[in-house]
Amino acid sequence: MAIHCDVAVLGGGTGGYIAAIRAAQAGKQVVIIEQDKLGGTCLHRGCIPSKALLRSAELYAQMKNSEDYGIASSEVTLLYPKVQQRKQAIVDQLHKGVQALMRKNKIQVIEGRGRVIGPSIFSPKSGAVAVELNNDEMETVVPANLIIATGSRPRTLAGLQPDGVSVLSSDEALTLEELPASILIVGGGVIGVEWASLLQDFGVRVTLVEAADQLLPSEDGEISRELRKHLERRGITVMTGVKVLADTYETTKQGIQISVQNGEKNERLEADKILVSIGRQANVENIGLENTDIALTKEGYIRVNEHMQTMEPHIYAIGDCIGGLQLAHAASHEGLIAVGHMIGETSHTYAESQVPRCVYTRPEVASVGYTEQDAKKKGRNTKTAKVPFAAIGKALVQGEKEGFLKLVADADTDDLIGVQIIGAHATELIAQAALAQLLDATPWEIGQAVFAHPSLSEIFGEAALAIDGRALNL
Ligand code: FAD
Repeated sequence: MAIHCDVAVLGGGTGGYIAAIRAAQAGKQVVIIEQDKLGGTCLHRGCIPSKALLRSAELYAQMKNSEDYGIASSEVTLLYPKVQQRKQAIVDQLHKGVQALMRKNKIQVIEGRGRVIGPSIFSPKSGAVAVELNNDEMETVVPANLIIATGSRPRTLAGLQPDGVSVLSSDEALTLEELPASILIVGGGVIGVEWASLLQDFGVRVTLVEAADQLLPSEDGEISRELRKHLERRGITVMTGVKVLADTYETTKQGIQISVQNGEKNERLEADKILVSIGRQANVENIGLENTDIALTKEGYIRVNEHMQTMEPHIYAIGDCIGGLQLAHAASHEGLIAVGHMIGETSHTYAESQVPRCVYTRPEVASVGYTEQDAKKKGRNTKTAKVPFAAIGKALVQGEKEGFLKLVADADTDDLIGVQIIGAHATELIAQAALAQLLDATPWEIGQAVFAHPSLSEIFGEAALAIDGRALNL
C-alpha cells in the first residue's frame, strides 16, 4: 500500500529536513526520504565536522603561541584520535537532535533511496516516489507536493579518483585517522583554503594549487590577496594560475607525485597525499527526473523559479542540487521559500545578495552582497571604506589585529550593497551586515547605531562613518 501525504521531501540534508519541519508546522502530513543519515552533507561531511576539526586546530596553534599572551606552557601535544572523537561526538549529538525534531514534528522518516516515478498526483502519470528501502523492500510515496533536496557530492578530476589512501576528497579527509606529513590541495575555493588552514595548524606541510589567478576566485581581490599573505606567512605554499595535470599523477614510495602547469613551464610536485577540492556536483542522476518535465541548467543543476518550483509546478527543488550559493543556510532558506509558496505564505524571499558567505580559515573571511569588482561589472557607481582591525581596541586585546573590513555602497543611491571582512570572528561579524542588507540600511543609518566598546563590532560602525569621511578612530 502506498503512503499518501501532503508533502514528501527527497533528501534529509539541511535543506530537506528544515523544509519538512516548516511544512509540518503548517499542519501538513510530511514524509522525508533519506538514503543515508538525516542531516546530510552539512552535518556528516561538511560544515559541522570540518568546523570541529578547525576549532581543535586553532586551539592547538594558539596554545603553541601562548607566550604572546604572557603564558608559558610546557610542551603542547596533539592527540589527533581525540580530535576525531570530539568531532564525532558533536556530529552524533546533532544527528540525534535532528532525529528528535522529526519525531517532535510527526514527520515520517523513510530510510531508503527514492526515485521520482511521476510528476504529481494531479497528472496522468500519477506522481509518486518509489523508494528502495535500506532493508531491500520497496515502498511508494504519493505526495501532493514533492521537494527534491538531494544535495551534492565532491566533484572529481578525471585521473584523480579518491581512493581514501593517497587521493582524498573532503569526505575522506574528514575521517583520516592519522595526519600526513605533507599534502597537496587541488583547488583554492572555500573548501580548499579551509583545509589548507586547518592542516597547516595541525603541523602538516601544505601546498595549495589554484587554477584561477586568485584564491577564493569569486571573492573580492583585496580580501583574497590578504588571505594569501596570511596563509603564506604561516608557511603554506600557495600557487595560483597553476593547473594540476591529473594524468601525470603517480604514487611513489614517498607518497604521490604530480605535474602542474605553471605558465610556460611544468613542475613536478610531491606530497604524502593529495586532496581534490574543486567544487561540488549536484546529485541529479538516478532520481527519476526523466519521468518528469524537470529541466536542468547547462551546469547540471535542477532549474527552478523564484518560488523554487521546477518545470513541474508541484515539484520543488532546493539546496545544493539547484546550484547558486551551495551553502547550508541557503539550502534551508530555499526550503522555507518552497514551503511558503506551497502553503500560500510569501514572507520568505530569496536574494543571493542577502546570504552571508563564510570561510573558516585563520584569519576568517566573510562577505555579503556585492564585491566592489562585481558592483562595477554591473555598472554601479561605488564608494568604499576600509577599516583595519588594528584600529579597533578589542582586536588588539584579543591579539588578533590582522585584516580589515570593507564596506561597499552605491555612490548614487547611498545604499549599502556589500560588506567583506577578513579577520578574527569575521563569520560572526558578517551577521550584522547581512541584517543591514535585508533592512536596506544605508551606511549613514548604520553609523547612527551604538556599538559596544570595546568590541570587534565597532569596525562595522567605523566603516559606515568612514565611507562619508566621518571616521572617528582613523
Ligand atoms: P545535502 O546536505 O547534501 O543533503 C542531501 C541529502 O539527500 C543527503 O543526506 C543524501 O544522502 C540524500 N539523498 C540524495 N539522493 C537521495 C535519494 N535518491 N534518496 C534519498 N536520499 C537521497 N555550508 C555552509 O553553509 N557552511 C559551512 O561551513 C560549510 N562547510 C562545508 C564544508 C565541507 C567540507 C563541505 C563538503 C560542504 C560545506 N558546506 C558548508 C556546504 C553544505 O554542506 C551544503 O551546502 C549543504 O549540506 C546543502 O544541503 P542540501 O540539503 O542541499 O544537501
